Amino acid sequence: MTSRLTALAERLERPLLVTDLVNVRYLTGLDASNAAVVVRPGGDAVLYTDFRYAAAARALDEDIPVEIVRSSLVAELAQRLDGPLGFEAEALPYGQYEVLAGGALELVPTKKLVEELRVVKDDEEIAALARAARVADRAFEALTAETWVGRSEKELAWRLRELLHAHGADDLSFDTIVASGPRGALPHAHPTNTIIETRTLVTVDWGARVGGYCSDCTRTLSTGSLPDRLRELYEVCLAAQTAAVASIRPGMSGVDADRAARDPIEAAGLGNAFGHGLGHGVGLDIHEAPRLSRESTDTLEAGQVVTVEPGIYVEGLGGVRIEDMCVVRADGLESLTSFPKALVEVG
Ligand code: ZN
Ligand code: ZN
Repeated sequence: MTSRLTALAERLERPLLVTDLVNVRYLTGLDASNAAVVVRPGGDAVLYTDFRYAAAARALDEDIPVEIVRSSLVAELAQRLDGPLGFEAEALPYGQYEVLAGGALELVPTKKLVEELRVVKDDEEIAALARAARVADRAFEALTAETWVGRSEKELAWRLRELLHAHGADDLSFDTIVASGPRGALPHAHPTNTIIETRTLVTVDWGARVGGYCSDCTRTLSTGSLPDRLRELYEVCLAAQTAAVASIRPGMSGVDADRAARDPIEAAGLGNAFGHGLGHGVGLDIHEAPRLSRESTDTLEAGQVVTVEPGIYVEGLGGVRIEDMCVVRADGLESLTSFPKALVEVG
């Protein structure tokens, strides 16, 4: 039993069926498109998967009994199991719930039991996240050595993908955002055929996935000396981001963490231009608990890995976002992102 399965078992009042595949991977190490784990309060657990993953399941470091099922996993579980069983209400589609409910199980919905364990990362996970962040940094450094002006946003996104692969990424952790000129005012702009111009800002938000773990980083670069207004937006965003990284501590609420960046942006008269939260947890998923935002109900704890990403978006003009991925330590944030935050110019 890993400490993860033990920790989960300790929280259970009844057996729990884990069908969220990221949670299955977290608990057992199995990366599969069809798998589930049943964990019992005493600590017993069984991993269910189909023929395609049988060898991988039996080769896991984790010493967990494996049962091979036909491809309709839920239908088989409905036949094999009975009695009370918790299920992950947010991970089981209604159609599958109906199949499961067709057997002799007494189904009880649960929420976020495994996610609550995932929120604090162990040393191995922090090392994996640091590795992903390093790959992302190196690939982006290589991209900034190339010419940006005259290339399209799509071209730049595709080139970054190649560089991430060359530097050791297994995949992207999400689709890269490249937003140049006035398109920078769109926080989640998909790259287009827009050609990157001189003397403007370009926002790139990208991440590498390495060993299942995601990195997440944003930088906004200039393509030559900027109009005053854009330079001012950059300076306000940078000061807010730096202030937040310097002041966030364990024990702080997600709301107060958000304030650490929001206050200086509001003081500059740009409060309305920062329309999203300050950050989010990162791990096996790109967006996890805790949330750092005005609506957050979370409290920061040592061992969490969070992003700090204030943004300022002005329609018709452009935008800035600066995002680091940081570990919450006892004495404050330790950034896993090393690419410079002072405005970098590309040709
Ligand atoms: Zn991001
Ligand atoms: Zn992010």
